[in-house]
Amino acid sequence: MSKFTKGFLLVLSSPSGGGKTTVVNKLLKIHPEFVLSVSATTRPPRKKEKNGVDYFFLSDSEFDRRIDYGDFVEWAWVYNYRYGTLKSLIEKGLSEDKVILLNTDVQGAESIKNAYPNSTVRVFILPPSKEELERRLRNRGSDSLESIETRLQNSLKEVQKALKFDYLVINHDLRKCVALVEKIILVELYRPYRVAPLEGWEFD
Ligand code: 5GP
Repeated sequence: MSKFTKGFLLVLSSPSGGGKTTVVNKLLKIHPEFVLSVSATTRPPRKKEKNGVDYFFLSDSEFDRRIDYGDFVEWAWVYNYRYGTLKSLIEKGLSEDKVILLNTDVQGAESIKNAYPNSTVRVFILPPSKEELERRLRNRGSDSLESIETRLQNSLKEVQKALKFDYLVINHDLRKCVALVEKIILVELYRPYRVAPLEGWEFD
């Protein structure tokens, strides 16, 4: 890949219930020119989730087949199910100079950074407090009690990795959080290697 890549991968990670899905959806509304990397998963759909929109919901055998074909940039087990980032969507977005939004766990963010070191920006979204994280998880109403406990424990582990990210945004208020992530994206578009190909200048 050329050293000049205008588009990039904006990977958002947060503990479960941290608000990353809402942030991604709001950003896509404000910036329809951004694209979403829809992940594949073996998790069954929740109410209101649509195949191909929220995730590609795959059977275990289909997921295995995709792994064998090398279709994933990365994949990981999260809470007994597998989740994977599809290479085809990423490659298409980058070749079209798009800002691509991804929503992955911390291990996914690390793997994507390793796969696309110059084209990955990682943002960690942190709820304002442990208590608030727990409240949001319980109020979500989409998980069983046992799953909430597991997610809470895992979330606290994920938070330990927050300082390794490129940016850290505290989600006190959704509107402000979206505005901050939007600013990060706009600033990242002004990295020299993202601007240079537009200018028609020659660079060594
Ligand atoms: P949920 O089941 O709540 O939609 O997602 C569970 C976790 O899986 C979240 O932390 C989400 O960010 C993560 N996840 C979703 N898609 C991917 C992916 O493609 N790769 C990885 N590594 N994690 C993902």
